[in-house]
Amino acid sequence: MDRLDQVYIAGRFRAAHGREELERIDPTTEEPTGILVMADAHDAGLAVDSARDAFAGFSRTSRRERIDLLHALADAVAARAGALTEATVAEYGAPMEQARWRAGLAAGNFRLAARLLEDFAFERRVGGSTVIAQPVGVAVHIVPWNSVYNAISVKLAGALAAGCTVVVKASEFSGLQNQLFAECLDAAGMPPGVVNIVSGRGDVVGEALTGHPDVRKISFTGSNAVGKSILRKSADRLPRVTLELGGKAPTVVLDDADLADAAVKALAIAFANNGQACIAGTRALVQRRQLASFCTAIEAASSTIVTGDPREPGTTMGPLVNRRQFERVQGYIRMGLADGARPVIGGEGRPRGLDRGYFVRPTVFTDVTSDMTIAREEIFGPVLCVIGYEDEDHAAQIANDTPFGLHAYVIGEDDRARAFARRIDAGRVAINGVAHDPEAPFGGFRESGIGREYGVFGIEDHLELKAILGR
Ligand code: NAD
Repeated sequence: MDRLDQVYIAGRFRAAHGREELERIDPTTEEPTGILVMADAHDAGLAVDSARDAFAGFSRTSRRERIDLLHALADAVAARAGALTEATVAEYGAPMEQARWRAGLAAGNFRLAARLLEDFAFERRVGGSTVIAQPVGVAVHIVPWNSVYNAISVKLAGALAAGCTVVVKASEFSGLQNQLFAECLDAAGMPPGVVNIVSGRGDVVGEALTGHPDVRKISFTGSNAVGKSILRKSADRLPRVTLELGGKAPTVVLDDADLADAAVKALAIAFANNGQACIAGTRALVQRRQLASFCTAIEAASSTIVTGDPREPGTTMGPLVNRRQFERVQGYIRMGLADGARPVIGGEGRPRGLDRGYFVRPTVFTDVTSDMTIAREEIFGPVLCVIGYEDEDHAAQIANDTPFGLHAYVIGEDDRARAFARRIDAGRVAINGVAHDPEAPFGGFRESGIGREYGVFGIEDHLELKAILGR
């Protein structure tokens, strides 16, 4: 059993001042694997002090120095990709191949920011004035447990390119991944104080950081409830706030789609990352006349889902991250059944043959209406709702009938799907399958958040504009 008790502050690892311990559990076996000693408000204060002290120097570094730092970070995470992948599997149960792909995103995010920084315009003429973009100040990045390296690196890449110093508040459920990532930063030669990492409880460390008077930027990825509480609290001091929150993405299957292919895609879109993805397409909208055929196609396509030990090469579906998530998802499945939805595959309980580990049965419900709780709330597990529509207008209306607006998917003839994509209110719409573009903006409409990150948008997200007027 290993004990993780370090914070990374001012360029060195030191024992956390916090004393509260959290038992770390392998979600595949439910066996304890170690202890995380969580940071506390005192650690949070030290981390902000360190970032504030480093800001004066780092904000004046040259473009070239920051490009070199971003490349060094990319090299450091790429060199440790194997260890980062294994930690993801051990800590959170992601299937090996998916974990490897996600770990690889971090190096790409740093390299992309380095390339964009080469010719990023920090100064331009507008009317008779000079407009200067300057780093906003000390940034706090708060991230969840479900895609740790990508969430940390995409925010960091933008902040460092802009010239901000950062405190990362990583999730208490990813202690090992946080520790390894901090080691990468250190190995890359991070100047002291430019990036500081603390793991601890949100209501302790998170609150201390978001309420700190020296913090000028908060970039939060996580649940809607916490995001909204941060925004409410920010009204007192007006730090710049970016919120990347939850989703309930529609996967719209147009009536010219090949239903067998659409069913395979709909499952992949819904169940990636064991269904624990903010971008998961968890509402499949299908023309009413095609519902029965689509459900038959779903049953056939589900035979390729392999639930089990995420370390096994053939596994496509691992366990959920912890018991709380397991209970939560079981609760939603029960709620769906009680509301009259009918399972095409799955249902309550564990998959056959898996009597330990936080495994749930991949579940697809049909006979779902847009007003049911399972169609409205983010479940964050492998539960897909199939909803019937009459025509394209009706499909667009259902797609947008949600408090969220992070992502959407359209499956059908290419041009038609692209035209339909324009009717959906979501930050990203992917055509005919899962697609990732690290240069495209990422963020939500409506209650899925405020602001955009990734690529050049992540750099702009850490800048404040100043106009210099007159001769
Ligand atoms: P969460 O909101 O519980 O926690 C996210 C982070 O916030 C953690 O580090 C947590 O410790 C911290 N936190 C909790 N309370 C806090 C407080 N009062 N003040 C400051 N920080 C606090 O979310 P989670 O369960 O870790 O992650 C799942 C959620 O994240 C889902 O809703 C999912 O959709 C969302 N998510 C969104 C995106 C996106 O880019 N839009 C990406 C991944 C996950």
